[in-house]
Amino acid sequence: MSEKIYTIPVNEAFEECAAEPSRGCPFCRLYNRLEKNELDLILGASMMEPDVREQTNEKSFCPEHFGLLLTGKNKLGLGLILESHMKQLREELDDRGPAALFGKVGTAAPKRLNRLDGNCYLCDRIEYSFSRMLSNAVLLWTEEESFREKVQAQPYLCLPHFRRWLEAAERELKRGYAEFYRAVSVPVYAYFDALNADVSHFCRKFDYRYDAEPWGTAKDAVERAGKFLFADLHKPVR
Ligand SMILES: [Zn+2]
Ligand SMILES: [Zn+2]
Repeated sequence: MSEKIYTIPVNEAFEECAAEPSRGCPFCRLYNRLEKNELDLILGASMMEPDVREQTNEKSFCPEHFGLLLTGKNKLGLGLILESHMKQLREELDDRGPAALFGKVGTAAPKRLNRLDGNCYLCDRIEYSFSRMLSNAVLLWTEEESFREKVQAQPYLCLPHFRRWLEAAERELKRGYAEFYRAVSVPVYAYFDALNADVSHFCRKFDYRYDAEPWGTAKDAVERAGKFLFADLHKPVR
């Protein structure tokens, strides 16, 4: 069973989302908080640390996180990280060693560039903590009756995080998994069913025969469906 260091932030996110349903999925909230923290660190305190620099030289960023770094306050900091990364990368693209000596050219570049694909310093840092939060939330569910109540009070869990939480529980609970699944799927499927009804009503409202009918909760159904299906990430936490 994993460590308990994330008990406080996990509990807080579940409380905050239960108190204000527009906040949506508590795991999206945890992710966005972790991301904000990592963005602040990389352009601040940890930017010049040698072991961080070593990792950003190797990995660089995904397009999503590069975009967020661009909108951050420290563009010089980003420039310095890139200067170092790009200089090293350029050197690594050249062929070297025996293969190059025997005239085999162009083998180093695709290999090295392949290693950049899907390899983001920030994604990795966030994932490290986030996966432990998921396990910690399983632990909380098994140990605290009050946390079980918080789970039932969630507006919903988005499907990507529902999946990841179930996977974490399957790994950690073994025989207790069926009970876990039955309990945590209640708020998810309740929201799913209501959302389906809202999406249908949204579509119906484009038919003139339904002009007189009120929109109800269907007006933002398509936007909400997006957050439910694909998670609601890379946003400041409100
Ligand atoms: Zn989520
Ligand atoms: Zn990333």
